[in-house]
Amino acid sequence: MPIHSIQADLHLHSTASDGLLAPADVVACALERGLLAIALTDHDTVDGLPAARRAAEEEGLDFVPGIEISCDANGLEIHLLGYLIDEENAALRMRLAEAREQRVGRGRAMVERLNALNVAIRFEDVVRQARGSVVGRPHVARALVATGAVSSEDEAFRRYLRNGGPAYVPKGGLTSAEAIRVVRGAGGVAVLAHPGLYAAEELVPRLVAEGLAGIEVWHPKHGLDQERRFLETAERLGLVATGGSDFHDPASGAFPGLAGVPLATIDRLRAAAG
Ligand code: MN
Ligand code: MN
Ligand code: MN
Repeated sequence: MPIHSIQADLHLHSTASDGLLAPADVVACALERGLLAIALTDHDTVDGLPAARRAAEEEGLDFVPGIEISCDANGLEIHLLGYLIDEENAALRMRLAEAREQRVGRGRAMVERLNALNVAIRFEDVVRQARGSVVGRPHVARALVATGAVSSEDEAFRRYLRNGGPAYVPKGGLTSAEAIRVVRGAGGVAVLAHPGLYAAEELVPRLVAEGLAGIEVWHPKHGLDQERRFLETAERLGLVATGGSDFHDPASGAFPGLAGVPLATIDRLRAAAG
């Protein structure tokens, strides 16, 4: 846990992606926890931002529009947080829509490969599992379990969906450089999400060259040692140190404010956005 006070949670998900609460309910939950500011950072979509902003404005909560973009950095899938983006920005919306289409196409392609392997599964089964969010391998795995083709999601990955597996289709979509460009083009600030989750530390200098302006230091899955190291990296490279709970689901035991930052961090982000 950080030594600073947690006034703002800069990493929250809603039903616009894979969270369980509607955007306005995420705001209500943050208020209950005594937070003064939040960023909504749904995966690859800005759809939840207007409703969250409205709810936050009504309640006097400072609102930072955000997004968490999945992208490829040298063959590694990483997540970039984009803060203070203008969600009406045409290039941002267009590129997100394209990436989404590519991922839906990927879902169809994986289903076709499974069918070719005599596994009876339909794309609709997969879409049902995705419940409105972007179709990915976990949804195909869940559909395989639901249709009885395998007995566990683990088995689905082992037999079919693992990298290089018989039904694996590589992900199209954005590179880190594109994602950072799109975020900056929309007036935003790009921050590397949870570097502790995918050993992305070596990538930081290259991402900085691509325009990265911050790293997420405080995250529930980061250990104390990692937080210390990431904070030192942020200070050394002049990056904004951010943090948030990565909250998805109240039943998971997580909650808004489980990790976060003081309000001053938002000033730093606004300064970085210029
Ligand atoms: Mn998620
Ligand atoms: Mn993430
Ligand atoms: Mn997240």
